[in-house]
Amino acid sequence: MDNIIKKMDTLFPSTLTVEDIEKEHKPRPENHTVTRIAPSPTGMMHIGSVYAALISERVAHMANGTFILRIEDTDSKRKVEGATDIIINGLKRYGITSDEGAISATEEVGDYGPYTQSDRYDIYLAYIKKLLQEDLAYPCFCTEDELNDIREQQTKQGLRTGYYGSWAKYKNAPQEVILEHLEKGTPFTVRFKSTGKNFNKRLFDDILKGKRNLPENDADVVILKASGLPTYHFAHIIDDHLMGTTHVIRGDEWLSSLPLHVQLFEAMGWTPPHYGHISPIEIMDDNKRRKLSKRKDPEASVTFYEEKGYPKEAVLEYLMNLANSGFEKFRTENPDESVWNFPFDLQKMGRSGALLDLAKLDSISRDYIGRLSAEELYNSLFEWSETMAPDLYTRMKNDKDYFLNIFKIERENVERVRKDFTNWSTIWHEIDYFFDDSFSPEDGYVAKITEQSPEVIKEFLSDFINHYNEKLSNEDWFSNMKTLAETHGFAPNGKTYKKDPDSYHGTVSDAAKILRVALTGRAQTPDLYSLMQVMGKERVIQRLNKSV
Ligand code: GLU
Repeated sequence: MDNIIKKMDTLFPSTLTVEDIEKEHKPRPENHTVTRIAPSPTGMMHIGSVYAALISERVAHMANGTFILRIEDTDSKRKVEGATDIIINGLKRYGITSDEGAISATEEVGDYGPYTQSDRYDIYLAYIKKLLQEDLAYPCFCTEDELNDIREQQTKQGLRTGYYGSWAKYKNAPQEVILEHLEKGTPFTVRFKSTGKNFNKRLFDDILKGKRNLPENDADVVILKASGLPTYHFAHIIDDHLMGTTHVIRGDEWLSSLPLHVQLFEAMGWTPPHYGHISPIEIMDDNKRRKLSKRKDPEASVTFYEEKGYPKEAVLEYLMNLANSGFEKFRTENPDESVWNFPFDLQKMGRSGALLDLAKLDSISRDYIGRLSAEELYNSLFEWSETMAPDLYTRMKNDKDYFLNIFKIERENVERVRKDFTNWSTIWHEIDYFFDDSFSPEDGYVAKITEQSPEVIKEFLSDFINHYNEKLSNEDWFSNMKTLAETHGFAPNGKTYKKDPDSYHGTVSDAAKILRVALTGRAQTPDLYSLMQVMGKERVIQRLNKSV
């Protein structure tokens, strides 16, 4: 084996030894919780990654521990330029803060780095060489064709596919054969020499999935690819060991690899961390639940939520709610508390996949926007519109006070805030009638919407215009309007109207509806008095005049 190691050293010259590496990595304080999120920079940030990051972050920070962002970029085929920034900015956007790891594509913080796998090749090589030395790994010279051939034969014979047992051609190959190949420069991978038996079952206690009986791993998996890059299986165990990870929380697509990962930890002589496998977020499709798909579902990508303009805080609350259903109660009882003060509990996460429910997100988002002051609402919408709705941005910049006054309606100094804003992208549509250049109702719109005759409308509105005094209080204004409505044949209340419907055009609220529609083109709006105050007398009279 020594000759093989020597040859390896010439193939992969590196001065780093396992001893040096271990010396440099001081153990973390005892009982210090360390979690990490380890995304691969593939260019798209999946909402499930934010969800997993949030859970890992909470586990660490609820225990005053450390949360790491590690970039797993050893799969060069999937690597995309700029993708690291997408991840960093995505997490930052939702306020998910890491204590160590990448802070930009080129910078990182923390004493346990490098935190980007492509900067760690020497580290992986040192451990690969150690495994080779201890005869726990070996080079394999099988070509793609040979591996396909093995798979074909296994399938034909009804056997499990894989590089295991007697199928593992180079497992016990004589040293001369190996050296000869190395001398010749035959491309090779390095495989882990498994001692596991597939018929042996082992109990794993997953933090999220509970107790699982899984077969031991007997496959000699590739730990170093022919390109000289480590595989995820190998790289992550080295990283999690050196970084002192105590809890690996990751997608459940890795659950079946758990026996292998634990086996690798043990082969290295290390205690494996606790593992927790998160079920993927699901979606209802044709009355059936299925995994949220990166390809099929726009809502799988975080850009969906940004474009729709869901406040990031609302998305975060929604994810917290998906993770722990107790969040809703917490929010009702503590409407003003920061989301970060919610006592998140890993044990309270469901074992099956959380169901994405956009109606629920809408409702959380409406509540969130409802809790903002007019100024906060203005600022958030302004910030969003800068990139997502440039016209609105310009408008808001030029007319800040008008926007603020609109946002104050039924928001400030009221017992119950009006919750009609769902997300930033729909607010403009809710308020556009306040702006003359976007208020262009069709002819006869008041009669059409109110179902009153043009004469009744004309007479009532003319009289209203003559008497309109914008200085009156809400009560006085209403009482004047009521008297006016009654003189124009509207019943003071529903009861009077019902007794003799033929004698009235409707009730006082039907008269108010004429006003509302004439001013806004809509049957439903926030408080009429307030909106007239905000529009100002001139605009009110001008609009009403169009209908008389
Ligand atoms: N890079 C892996 C992935 O993106 C990370 C899995 C893990 O968290 O260990 O799936």
